[in-house]
Amino acid sequence: MEIRKIKGTKDILPDETEIFLAAEKVLRETMIKYGYREIRIPTFEQTELFKKGTGVSTDIVTQQMYSFTDRGERNISLRPEGTPSVVRAYLENNLHKKRLFQKFFYYGRMFRQESPQSGRLREFNQFGIESIGSLSPQIDAETIILGLEVLRNIGLKRIEIHLNSIGCDKCRPSYKKSLKEYLKPKLNILCNDCKRRFNANILRVLDCKRETCRKELQNSPVSIDYLCDECKNHFSKVKELLQKSNVSFTLNPYLVRGLDYYTKTVYEFISPVLSAQDAVGGGGRYDRMIELFGGPPIPAIGFACGMERILLAVEKEGGEKRKKEKLDCYIATMDDKTDEEGFLLLNNLREKGLSCEKDFLNRSLKAQMKDANRLGADFVVIIGPEEMEKNEITIRMMSDSSQKRIEFSVDAIVKEIR
Ligand SMILES: [Zn+2]
Ligand SMILES: [Zn+2]
Repeated sequence: MEIRKIKGTKDILPDETEIFLAAEKVLRETMIKYGYREIRIPTFEQTELFKKGTGVSTDIVTQQMYSFTDRGERNISLRPEGTPSVVRAYLENNLHKKRLFQKFFYYGRMFRQESPQSGRLREFNQFGIESIGSLSPQIDAETIILGLEVLRNIGLKRIEIHLNSIGCDKCRPSYKKSLKEYLKPKLNILCNDCKRRFNANILRVLDCKRETCRKELQNSPVSIDYLCDECKNHFSKVKELLQKSNVSFTLNPYLVRGLDYYTKTVYEFISPVLSAQDAVGGGGRYDRMIELFGGPPIPAIGFACGMERILLAVEKEGGEKRKKEKLDCYIATMDDKTDEEGFLLLNNLREKGLSCEKDFLNRSLKAQMKDANRLGADFVVIIGPEEMEKNEITIRMMSDSSQKRIEFSVDAIVKEIR
């Protein structure tokens, strides 16, 4: 075939879809348990939204967005992340006037044209939460605890939490200034991206994955030494609450996250089975963003996690393979007449809520039994001409191969299976 899928996209075939479905189910159950309600945001938005929300100096906006002009000459981008859309929807629908404090989660596809060698998909599934309206450090702790529980429920056993505070508008400028002074003499050693970041958003230099840049950062000033009293107290409380909740974490002074909007607490969920610099998710506070979008000064915090990366980590941990799908009943038939009876019975049993299947290829009884086995059927109903004459069927329990004849009626079959 000549037309192939676009680089960075993936066909999720039924066996794998079932793995996703199972993960999505526990995701939604866990979110609801913590009081988060699902919001569904558009797949594409005005490009301006992400420039403003994600940040013009981020790699996402400068290098990775799928942007185009539509027939109405509008600049549009496929969403590279969820937070700016949630904030826009929150304000556009006047949700901030309804309640002071609200919790949202989302799940869906995101689009980023990342470099192919990193092995990341360009269309991928991400879930995230946004908790809007509270400045309390308890909410910082809650989002981390929720993130941990979701990841564990999906099947990840080993998760490390990296934690940092990057301060606020009051205290961050003095930190940035010291960092700038420290890095200035090293500027020609830094990579080209970092040279650009040095002027555009110096904190992002801390985020550089290149070994040469990381080496230069070893003795750099760290943000927690520059926090104002408010930020310092907030961060102490977050750490204290996590400790009291038995959540262990590592302080990582280089953690700034790849987005411009964060303030105070930032964190990442790291799976040690993936390459060291890759998180399965992360998040932090963004207390200024809603105001930046023209709303009132409302604080917020959230995180986002990549589903493909989580499932990859679960697999690398040697996590449980997907349980084989169960089929309540397979209907095997012998000839044209019994085959039509089988089709009618199929519908009747499905109406009773049982999962049922039959053969549609006129295969031999032996082949049908093999098919039933492959599909994981608990019972096989065999309709033969001889049985039919006596208005009976044979029902076979696949677990112990025992079989018996019973009356050919939907109720009798349902009773036997149940
Ligand atoms: Zn501060
Ligand atoms: Zn660099």
